[in-house]
Amino acid sequence: MSIFSRRSFSHIPVLLYHSVSDDVLDERLTMDIISFKHQMNIIKKWGFKPITIEDYEKYRINRNRSMHKKVLITFDDGFEDNYTNAFPILSNNNFPAVVFLITGLINEKATWLENHPQLSEKKMLTWEQIKKMKKGNIAFGSHAVNHTNLSFLNRKELIIELGSSKEIIEKELNCRVSSLSYPFSAHSSPVIEIARKCGYTVAFAVDSGDNTAFRLNRTKCNGPESRFIFLLKLLGWYTFFINLKKRLIIRNVKSN
Ligand SMILES: [Zn+2]
Repeated sequence: MSIFSRRSFSHIPVLLYHSVSDDVLDERLTMDIISFKHQMNIIKKWGFKPITIEDYEKYRINRNRSMHKKVLITFDDGFEDNYTNAFPILSNNNFPAVVFLITGLINEKATWLENHPQLSEKKMLTWEQIKKMKKGNIAFGSHAVNHTNLSFLNRKELIIELGSSKEIIEKELNCRVSSLSYPFSAHSSPVIEIARKCGYTVAFAVDSGDNTAFRLNRTKCNGPESRFIFLLKLLGWYTFFINLKKRLIIRNVKSN
């Protein structure tokens, strides 16, 4: 595949965060508070504009609008620290974002991370916190009910995971939910088909989609990362950079 074939330059970059906490139990799922604050400052300083999920959908439909320096900030899972640590920083900057909730674990703990005893004790958001965040320009989408790999489920189970998670958020928050984030980024054809049938209009994966409406790419932001790497992510050039780096390494190995 050509390094140019993903057309990453013509899309709005979508950033993916999980937990924002100084209790960094696993760097793949956590960004410390200072690093998160620093990244939000970079967004502001360099003149990037975070947009709402509604605007993101409009930009996707109407390609004539300028996507220049627009970015969508997303969070997966709905850890409680999204409210205690990330939300105040987002609010101070007037930045909208979208949080994808595991509806079966609201007000519970991160039990799907059972292989990591300390992480599985992490608290998830409560409805009260979610409602306060909604008033502060944070939108919510579905991350299914139980955080299972959707590609292993049958149609009936998929309807429950995708349909009832959407319904419960809509009922609690009295708003339309149109966005989904696939747990573990798993999105086989039946998963996509049921997601469409349940009424979603956009669905996000992690760096594995072709950037069509139900295979939208996101770039993970976790652990401490350099300003250079974060700027590449903001510009939508990170995948291009990584692919280029891989090619150069392969070429070097072959020529040695
Ligand atoms: Zn997840």
